[in-house]
Amino acid sequence: MKFCPRCGQASLAASPKFFSCGACGFTLFQNVAATVAAIIDFEGSILVAVRAEDPDAGKLDLPGGFVDPGETAEQALRRELTEELNLRDVTPVYFCTYPNIYPYKSVTYHTLDVFFTIELLRMPKLTPADDVASIEWVKKEELDPQDFAFSSMRAALSEYTRSNRE
Ligand SMILES: [Zn+2]
Repeated sequence: MKFCPRCGQASLAASPKFFSCGACGFTLFQNVAATVAAIIDFEGSILVAVRAEDPDAGKLDLPGGFVDPGETAEQALRRELTEELNLRDVTPVYFCTYPNIYPYKSVTYHTLDVFFTIELLRMPKLTPADDVASIEWVKKEELDPQDFAFSSMRAALSEYTRSNRE
């Protein structure tokens, strides 16, 4: 992005946090976007999604997605779980956050990913849809964080598997 959307001059300068126009003073902040993801446990196995779309189509993922304007993290997670898996009536428990970089159609987005844990008491009937190609249940002790698409997810799952061993 080089041209100022306000004055049209090629005077836009980019910094990691914002674009600013030297000619007219226009400023566009590149705010961090919030995302949510769920570590869903049923009897010691974790629900893992296979990504249907780029970035990293085919790699492993946790269910979740971007928080919409006006949503709480919990609302976003419930909406995403309904859209992606048709999973409803869950109780998300806050776990941790990690920053992430999400390249999409030649724009790099900085996100803060909020991780929740969900413990299921019975096996739900799940219908993968949206950006989830298929799902698998992986035993906690066989979970390898390195199989996951995003660095934030690898960090959160490493923390999760560590906390389960203690
Ligand atoms: Zn300008």
